[in-house]
Amino acid sequence: MNAPNPALAPGTVIANPFPIENGQLLIGGMPLERLAARVGSTPFFAYDRTIISAHVRALRAALPREIDLHYAMKANPMPAVVQMMVGLVDGLDLASAGEMKVALDAGADPAEMSFAGPGKRPIELWQAVAAGVTINLESPHELDALLAAGKALGVKPRVAVRVNPDFELKASGMKMAGGPKQFGIDAEQVPEVLAEIGRHPIEFRGFHVYSGSQNLKAEALCDAQRKTLELAVRLAADAPAPVRMLNLGGGFGVPYFPGDQSLDLLPVMDNLRAVAADARVRLPQAKLMIELGRYLVAHGGVYVTRIVDRKVSRGHTFLVTDGGLNHHLAASGNFGQVIRKNYPALIGNRADAPAEEEASIVGPLCTPLDLLGDHLKLPRAKVGDFACVLLSGAYGYTSSPLQFLSHPHPLEVLV
Ligand SMILES: *Cc1c(COP(=O)(O)O)cnc(C)c1O
Repeated sequence: MNAPNPALAPGTVIANPFPIENGQLLIGGMPLERLAARVGSTPFFAYDRTIISAHVRALRAALPREIDLHYAMKANPMPAVVQMMVGLVDGLDLASAGEMKVALDAGADPAEMSFAGPGKRPIELWQAVAAGVTINLESPHELDALLAAGKALGVKPRVAVRVNPDFELKASGMKMAGGPKQFGIDAEQVPEVLAEIGRHPIEFRGFHVYSGSQNLKAEALCDAQRKTLELAVRLAADAPAPVRMLNLGGGFGVPYFPGDQSLDLLPVMDNLRAVAADARVRLPQAKLMIELGRYLVAHGGVYVTRIVDRKVSRGHTFLVTDGGLNHHLAASGNFGQVIRKNYPALIGNRADAPAEEEASIVGPLCTPLDLLGDHLKLPRAKVGDFACVLLSGAYGYTSSPLQFLSHPHPLEVLV
């Protein structure tokens, strides 16, 4: 069966990218029941290497050659996933020294890694300098620790300046730039910081602007990319060395919810081509890149739970599962959503059965927040069936309060 390709299907929402055979979801080609037996226990997250790699390859094919593609590891830092991604992308974006360890263990090239994030501790900066990764400077204060590390280790720290621009990414699920922010250095402060960098033995690399996440509007992304280049050209006038890299950010969103339209990729690719052509003239030594997290991995993952009880309360059916918000906070609606909406969910061993009833999928936690699917139209499910949440390849396992209520942690498998 050919895997549907969301990268090339703008305007359509592919809620379920997994093939179905005899009612069973096929994950990595394996029927769900068989996979669950192999894993040994529920709940678990399963990631499909064929779906993820086909998707990344399709995106690469659409992306202009002169733009590098980086994977933002925090979306899914499972070591096996990172190892796979290393073979598919040009570089990795790290948000901690812990992620750096996983990236280096996976064989990624430190010269193609950048480390962003506020509040980097001195030891993390020290480790990053020793590894030779590019540090995206988030505050003038980080310079002191970088200089100390560089001096002690006898290496020139590689530094890019993360800029908090004077614009914002419109229509973003999460805005991370514009106005007062804990991310990056305010654009108006950057010339001063560049002058300071010029006074020290530092390898200046360029600029990083990350304006927001979870954006489904092509025009908003294009606008931010163009403004980022303008800003970088303006700031380059004060740089101590030519700009070698310009990280344009990412923000490509995933259509999680009913009514969401997937990102129309073609205008974004055309815009990147135009931005790259412009940059070739105005920042001739700069390598351009985008950094994507969820867009690369979300749809290739599924969270699998087992139904342990089926209750009817005053006419409403509850499917009580062995998993919940402790494993998958985002699907419960408590990870940044303003209004709770359902992630796509289905009964993974009755995946092609018609909807016969309305039911809610809940977890075993003693809180009404523990809701994985509210009033879903589902086939009639029994105790022992699998309730599955789709689009769960990003911000699942490591973004959830795993200790809450002291239940066992879920497993993760790459199939
Ligand atoms: C979180 C983050 C990303 C990835 O965001 P997605 O929404 O998963 O694409 C990329 N870059 C930076 C700097 C981030 O903080």
